[in-house]
Amino acid sequence: MKKKKIILPDDEMVRQWYNVAPDIPGGLTPPLDPATGQPAGPEKMTPIFPMGLLEQEMSAERWIDIPEEVLEVYSLWRPTPLVRAFQLEEALGTKAKIYYKYEGVSPAGSHKPNSAVAQAYYNKREGVTRLATETGAGQWGSALSFATQKFGLACKVYMVRVSFEQKPYRKSMMNTYGAEIVASPSNDTAFGRSVLAKDPDTPGSLGIAISEALEDAASREDTKYALGSVLNHVLLHQTVIGLEAKKQLAMVDDYPDVVIGCCGGGSNFAGVATPFMPDRLEGKKNVRFVGVEPASCPSLTRGKLAYDFGDVAKMTPLLQMYTLGHDFIPPGIHAGGLRYHGMAPIVSALVRDGIIEPMAVHQLECFEAGVLFARTEGIIPAPESCHAIRAAIIEATRDKNEPKTILFNLSGHGMLDLASYDLYFAGELHNYEYPAEAIAEATKNLPKVDE
Ligand SMILES: *Cc1c(COP(=O)(O)O)cnc(C)c1O
Repeated sequence: MKKKKIILPDDEMVRQWYNVAPDIPGGLTPPLDPATGQPAGPEKMTPIFPMGLLEQEMSAERWIDIPEEVLEVYSLWRPTPLVRAFQLEEALGTKAKIYYKYEGVSPAGSHKPNSAVAQAYYNKREGVTRLATETGAGQWGSALSFATQKFGLACKVYMVRVSFEQKPYRKSMMNTYGAEIVASPSNDTAFGRSVLAKDPDTPGSLGIAISEALEDAASREDTKYALGSVLNHVLLHQTVIGLEAKKQLAMVDDYPDVVIGCCGGGSNFAGVATPFMPDRLEGKKNVRFVGVEPASCPSLTRGKLAYDFGDVAKMTPLLQMYTLGHDFIPPGIHAGGLRYHGMAPIVSALVRDGIIEPMAVHQLECFEAGVLFARTEGIIPAPESCHAIRAAIIEATRDKNEPKTILFNLSGHGMLDLASYDLYFAGELHNYEYPAEAIAEATKNLPKVDE
């Protein structure tokens, strides 16, 4: 039998996160205060985030210790397996070696608890007793519900209404962990009520839900806000993925020629990819990095690199990122975790500097790849993760005789997304053309700043 699963011994568990920020060739630009156009210092954000996370947000340190309390919770499912996808390779008839890092073994079924646990810990440490957040497909909400419960915090989740209605089992999960959940837009916030007054039947959006959670956190002394992607500290926490994968590949004497991840806000991709970047930047390795996004929500391949708000109500500081415009509402594709108008500033800067190659793929080819993966490797992937699988297949079959090593992140399982698979098999899913007009419209409203 060939060695399929590469398991990292517990005593090799990763104990530090890697911060790529100081290694970005062209550097990172600071967040701006929309009122003044000046850099927004930490004091602007202390009502919303604890100091421990704000320090990480602005840190220039390469290595940051993972607190013992966080490691303790990580040890419930970490280290995660790295698997050589022999059966998939065989089905494709390729000489390429394909490895996937499997984050679906976490309690929430995705990579998201890697950051949720760390965020709950730093909030707890600073005396916060309640967190407010938003969730689209429900992955982040279930991760934070789990994490807050581990540290004895209350949790309120604003869940985008269409997902609230389509994904009842994500709701059940959050309830089981003890969180309070409401469909967004809701009557619980002034912003939610204003959206409902204008459009009572709105399906909601991630940008609206973020605005509601921010309002909740800003209006209560005991509450802070938690974001599941995009920000530097979230990407930092996710680097356990790539750091473990690097050690696991070394155990079988391998090293990737290309590292692939799907991109919603950019956190799982940065998590798997950035730990390999110093080798490339120091000229030691020729590794490529491919970030995959849906063609229907193409911030990296079709967006503008500009300062923009993170939410619809324009409550966040301005971040420099590839964006489709903060009021762009993406089509209802079934990879809910990839429907965000912007991309993490770190990922955006690395695309700008030519380190990351962005790629856009369509919904149907992703489900086709996901079904092939399920039938060969056995795991039914999350629709988001299918984007990474599709890109891995493209890389492995471009020239089937070229030996190369491919690593992709399998960000989560799809056991709570089976309704989307049903629609795919029923022929009811479609590709959305690049929504050029909607993007042109939304990017007209980008905030004006002097750059
Ligand atoms: C949320 C999610 C994503 C997208 O978020 P990133 O921050 O870009 O990683 C991808 N895959 C799964 C399974 C998710 O839950």
